[in-house]
Amino acid sequence: MAEEVKRILEGVKKRDPDQPEFYQAVEEVCTTLIPLLEKEPKYIPILERIVEPERVVMFRVAWVDDKGKEHVNRGYRVQFNSAIGPYKGGLRFRDNVNLSIIKFLGFEQIFKNALTTLPMGGGKGGSDFEPKGKSDLEVMRFCQSFMSELFRHIGPNTDVPAGDIGVGGREIGFLFGMYKKIVNRFEGVLTGKGANWGGSLIRPEATGYGAVYFMEKMLAANDMDMKGKKVLVSGAGNVAQYCVEKLLHVGAIPLTVSDTSGCVYEPEGFTHEKLAYVFKIKNEERKPISEYTKYSKEAQFFPKENPWRRFKADIAMPCATQNEVDTEDAKALVANGVKAIGEGANMPSTPGAIAVYFENNVLYGPAKAVNAGGVAVSGLEMSQNSLRLSWTREEVDAKLKKIMGDIFDSCFNAAKTYAKNPKDYMTGANIAGFLKVAEAMLQQGVL
Ligand code: GLU
Repeated sequence: MAEEVKRILEGVKKRDPDQPEFYQAVEEVCTTLIPLLEKEPKYIPILERIVEPERVVMFRVAWVDDKGKEHVNRGYRVQFNSAIGPYKGGLRFRDNVNLSIIKFLGFEQIFKNALTTLPMGGGKGGSDFEPKGKSDLEVMRFCQSFMSELFRHIGPNTDVPAGDIGVGGREIGFLFGMYKKIVNRFEGVLTGKGANWGGSLIRPEATGYGAVYFMEKMLAANDMDMKGKKVLVSGAGNVAQYCVEKLLHVGAIPLTVSDTSGCVYEPEGFTHEKLAYVFKIKNEERKPISEYTKYSKEAQFFPKENPWRRFKADIAMPCATQNEVDTEDAKALVANGVKAIGEGANMPSTPGAIAVYFENNVLYGPAKAVNAGGVAVSGLEMSQNSLRLSWTREEVDAKLKKIMGDIFDSCFNAAKTYAKNPKDYMTGANIAGFLKVAEAMLQQGVL
């Protein structure tokens, strides 16, 4: 079976030799599926098909800055798999975006969305446009230009984008406004919308809250809990902010946040008051987290560092970006006492780091399970749009919590059935997500 998987991986590499992030994501999934494929060889042709996107769209996005200068960026939408529902996944605007990154994110999204139990296929898009340092009007003009092409590829029953890095409420608003103007219909074509125009309550909180709900379940299944646990969080955006907030709700002690400027360390942990400064700096002022020391005299700032190597802690929750924890970082985490990892970002650990977690019996909650709360509440936003009603915060939060619990159970059960190590929730997540999509693909014929 390993031979079959090797052949499929060689095919992927041959087609796209210059897509390292995509290859990394595919290699992890394919390798962990081997125990399933040994029992069920009928899934081999499905695996061969699932690694190839159904459609890749690339387009020019031209826009004019505040000084009247013209710029050109590239737009992407990868419609990866629609076996169980319309394509669904975020848009990322960041200067390092390329096809490899969008494809890895779209590929991950297939399995993540399947794990949520909601009917959503996998897709992802974005642009190498960097919103950091741009004015609101520049961002608006960019979003309008981006949507003037994207609109023809999406729709509430076709493909429903949302936010990701660099795309938050402001960008979703501009994108939605332009879509509505072009098609002349008010419909649920994007998620993450404003709460008073079709958005779901708890959507902004969902990824961060969901990550902590998953962590609680994973710890409970291993006779541990969150109370009084010191937690290293990376990132300072939407996911990290609400991860820290929920950590406070459950009695954990969040010690760090970070961004590309460096890492902030609060020796006694963040409080709700201190977290409010993070919200203010990142969401209102749109400034680097280095500004934080202006607000908290206890805080220490480490320029250009991540939170992984310096601080004693019990848990790490990487909530920034892909490959932000490497082998040496992982070794440092283990040396500093970390017993559990929960990935709020997409693919934040390198394969070397993951190997270190398993070698040291660190509980490892993989991204496609841990951070699925965001897209799960996007799915709930789609349901509310279809029903033309909105649920309360309590209703959505309760559904999110239930979904995250069910995701953990799926990972746990699949790991128990197929993996050598019953605590290998990475294999569990990959197999559980794959099985749902693969079954649908088998039933729908060779397409
Ligand atoms: N970008 C988020 C993710 O990585 C959310 C996608 C969505 O809500 O569609 O899952």
